[in-house]
Amino acid sequence: MGRAIGGHGVSGGVAAMAMEALDRCAEAATYTEEPGKVTRTFLSQPMQRLHGRLAGWMEAAGLHVRVDAAGNLVGRYPGLHPHGPVLMIGSHVDTVPDAGKYDGLLGVMLGVAVVQALGGRRLPFGIDVMAFGDEEGVRFGVPFLGSLAASGRFDRGLLERVDARGIAMAHAFRLFGLDPSRIEEAAYPPGGILGYLEAHIEQGPVLEALGASVGVVEAIAGQSRIQAEILGRSGHAGTSPMAGRLDALAAAAELVLEVERLGRSVAGLRATVGTIAVEPGASNVVPGTARLSIDIRHRRDDVRMAAVADLHARAVSLAATRGVKFVVTREEHQAAVPADPASVERLARAVADAGHIPHRLDSGAGHDAAVMAAIAPMAMLFLRSPGGVSHHPDESVRAGDVAVALEVMIRYLDLLADGFGSAGGS
Ligand SMILES: [Zn+2]
Repeated sequence: MGRAIGGHGVSGGVAAMAMEALDRCAEAATYTEEPGKVTRTFLSQPMQRLHGRLAGWMEAAGLHVRVDAAGNLVGRYPGLHPHGPVLMIGSHVDTVPDAGKYDGLLGVMLGVAVVQALGGRRLPFGIDVMAFGDEEGVRFGVPFLGSLAASGRFDRGLLERVDARGIAMAHAFRLFGLDPSRIEEAAYPPGGILGYLEAHIEQGPVLEALGASVGVVEAIAGQSRIQAEILGRSGHAGTSPMAGRLDALAAAAELVLEVERLGRSVAGLRATVGTIAVEPGASNVVPGTARLSIDIRHRRDDVRMAAVADLHARAVSLAATRGVKFVVTREEHQAAVPADPASVERLARAVADAGHIPHRLDSGAGHDAAVMAAIAPMAMLFLRSPGGVSHHPDESVRAGDVAVALEVMIRYLDLLADGFGSAGGS
């Protein structure tokens, strides 16, 4: 079985390709909607220009490039057999406003680098390097549009959604040169791909605390998003005696602390109040209504749902004590997505073969991988995020860690090829 790289440690060729991937992320950052910042949303002109540049890099690596019907850029590296299976390696090329350079982009550039590293060597499967057009959901307020389309679960009703400038998604597709009526053509059939592999910066502090370059994701945490209201009674700040007030914000303040207490009391739980709005909202008025958002995440759905139930009971009792009402106005639950166990083992072995400890961790953030898991065995490799900083211009990644990730991904391909009984000749 031909290994792309022998022994431990990163070879000079891999290190150089990792540096090139980083340089490409830096160049991609100049394709932006806001001068001096990195902001690139779905179907925007900067994304179209980036597609042109990225297509050039893909073609130089030996990929055949197309833009799919959902605005994703896809490069195909053929396998030994023209109709053989295909492994997808991908991530996204859209960003949050004033983003860093690596969230999403690095995973795409590593996909290109992996194919480059094969140097024309054919595997028993093809590779699709996938650059999803929308993951962050910034432009139309709905995330994962690219992977939803690729996995055949794009909701047509979304085409009517408008962006901040009043442009409907359907029209944005046309401006991008795509026909929104054909969006279903972007879908891979269930079982149509051999697997999905995504490399992504961790966006958190776990790997840095472990002193590790990379980690293997075991599960993407489930999320509960709750919108709630506390209904009290507004009144004059000067004339309403303290006794007998039904201050909605004071009750909300207690609830915020309760959410924090709950988060701290359950291992692995994340519980956050992210927004709070008060009505009437004047300095001389006792708040009558407080609206807040609660975000609860855990890798285990039973633990998360138990926390939601617990919090609901605490909120109701806290409100009753104060004579106000606690009302849930909207509730969304997203199940946790485990990575494919066989792929996790293969990726862990690739990390170990590369001479590193195969640390395993969960992802607290959602990723394209969670969506693609619906149609393919999914694996995800995290790279250390210095300072845990992400969704921020200071987001960074170490060149050495990128080289390790690239080597791990190459070894992953070889292990996967071994499973076919032949790694293929060069
Ligand atoms: Zn991302």
